[in-house]
Amino acid sequence: MAKVGPRAVDSLAEMGIENIADLLSHYPRRYVDRTKMRSLHSLVPGERSTVVLRVLSVTSRRSRANRAMVEARCSDGSAEVTLVFFNQGWRARQLSEGAQLLAFGKLEVFRGRRQMVNPTVDLFSSLEGDADAAGFAKVVPIYPSSDKAGIVSWQIARWVDEALRRAGRMADPLPAHWRSALGLWARSEALQAIHAPRSMDEVEPARRRLAFDELLRIQVAAAQRRSSLELQARGVVHLPAESRLDLLEQFWSSFPFEPTRSQAAAMSEIARDMATERPMHRLLQGDVGSGKTLVAADAMLRCVAAGYQAVLLAPTEVLAVQHHLSISQMLGHLEVPEESRLGGRRPLSVGLLTARLTAKRREALVAGIANASVDITVGTHALLSQGVEFAALGLVVVDEQHRFGVEQRSLLREKASAAGTVPDMLVMTATPIPRTAALTFFGDLDLTTLDELPPGRSPVQTVWAKDPQAAAQAWNRVREEVALGHRAYVVCPLVEGSERMEARSAKAEMERLASAELEGISLGLLHGQMPEQKKADVMEAFRTGEVGVLVATTVVEVGVDVGEATVMVVEDADRFGIAQLHQLRGRVGRSSLHSWCFLLSENPSPVAAERLAALEATSDGFELAKMDLEMRGEGTLLGVRQKGRSELRLASLSEDADLVVRAHDVAAELVSADPSLSGNAPLLEETEYFLGQDAVMLSKS
Ligand code: ADP
Ligand code: MG
Repeated sequence: MAKVGPRAVDSLAEMGIENIADLLSHYPRRYVDRTKMRSLHSLVPGERSTVVLRVLSVTSRRSRANRAMVEARCSDGSAEVTLVFFNQGWRARQLSEGAQLLAFGKLEVFRGRRQMVNPTVDLFSSLEGDADAAGFAKVVPIYPSSDKAGIVSWQIARWVDEALRRAGRMADPLPAHWRSALGLWARSEALQAIHAPRSMDEVEPARRRLAFDELLRIQVAAAQRRSSLELQARGVVHLPAESRLDLLEQFWSSFPFEPTRSQAAAMSEIARDMATERPMHRLLQGDVGSGKTLVAADAMLRCVAAGYQAVLLAPTEVLAVQHHLSISQMLGHLEVPEESRLGGRRPLSVGLLTARLTAKRREALVAGIANASVDITVGTHALLSQGVEFAALGLVVVDEQHRFGVEQRSLLREKASAAGTVPDMLVMTATPIPRTAALTFFGDLDLTTLDELPPGRSPVQTVWAKDPQAAAQAWNRVREEVALGHRAYVVCPLVEGSERMEARSAKAEMERLASAELEGISLGLLHGQMPEQKKADVMEAFRTGEVGVLVATTVVEVGVDVGEATVMVVEDADRFGIAQLHQLRGRVGRSSLHSWCFLLSENPSPVAAERLAALEATSDGFELAKMDLEMRGEGTLLGVRQKGRSELRLASLSEDADLVVRAHDVAAELVSADPSLSGNAPLLEETEYFLGQDAVMLSKS
């Protein structure tokens, strides 16, 4: 950038702009269409408007109240106006005679002359007669500028203009046949038009093309990750061993219910993956209660039937205990051949590996894992880093809860790989995410979706309790249900940033309830700060009914499965996000019993009120996930965090859904035809440049 001086270089770097590519992807934040501007002459006093002005003169003085006061006399050719700035002494330096600017403000008439007080100002040219094209353009781009770095919009416009001119026609990473099939503009035209549109009509097609490029880079990176895994790694071929042919049949013939259509489809898709040598890398998503555990159990059993071991990783110890219980119940009664004794059999063994095992039991379990007498191991993901050696690991199921990013997943796979083979991997999400987000953030995984709930569920009746009377009814319901032998959860507010505070508030709330609304009922406390043994004990007491009401922090958010639980009360519900509330609600309504979810919140903010109303209106997790995406945008989606160059600047996962899907398909095709992209250097280079250092990551929180 020839015209950029050393000071500006530093300032630009502060804004994350280090080279031409960065500069050209620093897009205008809005445009001003000068052909649509009002003339000063046509404005009546009191009207708010944007006008294009040229500065005639600038004076600076102190007001009577000793405030800095800068006045800029300006004209738009039809009339004059004085811009008056209070307490903005720096305007005297910013505005100079001849400068062109856009001012937005209220036109007033003071002592017979037109003025605007403290208008919003965007400078788009510093000097009259500036050869800068922006000075004459009909549409003026307004760039995100940086007061801190001292860079203003017109400077950026000028550098961009220079960069575009010098770059000339640029290589287009998207092959021409794709461009025409997708109806997308060429890269050069799009860049030109997004920075210097000749009319506003050019902006949207330009944005679409560049938005597509952002999405394509993400998809290309994911497709390459996948293809390199497939090319380099040998997976486990899961086909039933001769002696274990009947295992799946044993299971399904004794299983109390039929899989749903959706579960059956998911299971056969997974079975097909598992039977091949290509390592499976699949995401299983489904609404709360759609029965993901059964699908995972079937996959693990398939793994055991092939003579391998399976692992189920849970995000927390509470969940590990829970999963261990359900998997043991489902599979623990099955029999596998005892390899050491001809014709002998032993029960399928499901181990639980957590931090609170005694040294002795842990030693025994680890030995069992190493000699293949333990078929399935459930634990937290620390399990893989604790020097546990598997005799023959075939499948890793991760109950993800959005905790792992791309890198953690590959780390996990590396740890789990032994003897040159890579185990199959099945990742389960806790709540559904919109397809566009799944493709973007889990683009390296194949996607299986459970889109129906098992039959016989009565939907959870959700009530947003807005006032004390409604809250009183909620507590009545809790008492009635507990009297019927059912159970209830009370979830306490999330105190930002402090688990200890959260724990304290749950404890205080339990004590309060014990001598008020829930007097005489047996209450249990569950929070993240409790020792694991105590957590397990209280969960057990809740499961058996010894404890009728569990007062908890969001520890119960994911996966806890107690069929007799029929009431969920969420206090200060406005503090939770949509996905979280939907998860919490999913803790009830897990049987044919009628269930309720009460969201207590008396004074929510308008945004929170919208969330609560959404929860009340629908129980469809996919619908809610879509709303969540629209309300919050992709930046905060599920705690998804994008950084720096990999962020989506122009693409929107909710509005550009078609582009997301097309980008996924195009990337798959390009990469499968040319895995190293050696024939498309521009695409390879920019993918590495934009996604290299910090590929799209999910928060670890
Ligand atoms: P999630 O997808 O939220 O993890 P779970 O796997 O915990 O859901 O299943 C929710 C409940 O539905 C469990 O109690 C499970 O036993 C039950 N369930 C799962 N599949 C079926 C089915 N096909 N028919 C009836 N009940 C089922
Ligand atoms: Mg589950």
